[in-house]
Amino acid sequence: MNGDEENKIDAAIERIAVLEKAYDELEAQTKAQLLVLKEQIRSIAKAELRALYGDEQKYLGSVLYWHHKKWVAVRTVGDGIGLSEHSVYTWVYAAEYKKKCVTCGAEFGEPMSSRGQMGASWHSWRTQCPSCKQKADEVSQRKLTAWQEERARNIEALRTMPYSEYLQTDHWREVRRRAQKRAGFRCEICNNPEGIQVHHRTYERRGEERNDDLIVLCENCHRTFHENGKLVRDYGGAS
Ligand SMILES: [Zn+2]
Ligand SMILES: [Zn+2]
Ligand SMILES: [Zn+2]
Repeated sequence: MNGDEENKIDAAIERIAVLEKAYDELEAQTKAQLLVLKEQIRSIAKAELRALYGDEQKYLGSVLYWHHKKWVAVRTVGDGIGLSEHSVYTWVYAAEYKKKCVTCGAEFGEPMSSRGQMGASWHSWRTQCPSCKQKADEVSQRKLTAWQEERARNIEALRTMPYSEYLQTDHWREVRRRAQKRAGFRCEICNNPEGIQVHHRTYERRGEERNDDLIVLCENCHRTFHENGKLVRDYGGAS
């Protein structure tokens, strides 16, 4: 390396170091500003709590505790109300939080269980009242049952129809396509990509085959396997 190149490298390192220093300074500055804001939020929370009494004070404390956990510590609520952290826990956990049902509009209270669970689920299913929720559960249970029954009927039909008819079904076409894809469109014995066929190793689960129930073979290997009787007998089909 000549002197010129060394100078270039030094200059590059220096430019990067300048940016790194700027980054660190900005990071430290931002953190300090965030801390100031956090302190402001806490002191406002405390002041607002101290300005209230009785149930209203507890209600605001409860809202702060459940909805502002990023900034408002239990200690902040305790300080504002003049209670120990332990007492705050006792009454916030016992509190019922008023919510409005999204389905019927009724107001209802629900006991809180954990501050951690709150966030994400708050605006979704938790805002249905218990009776609407039960109705919705029953509807989805009925749908699930109907779906399961239909699936069972479909499988039964696939299992009992003549094999030649089975080979024409969308189900088999899809199962066969997926088996070929899994095998990389090659014979699983000799790697030949031409004229591949999908063979049932067992018919036990016809209509709901597992991956292991099938093997992808080229014409040659398929014939050899059948001649040697290594695989189960086909039911007169082309598979
Ligand atoms: Zn409702
Ligand atoms: Zn083969
Ligand atoms: Zn076969």
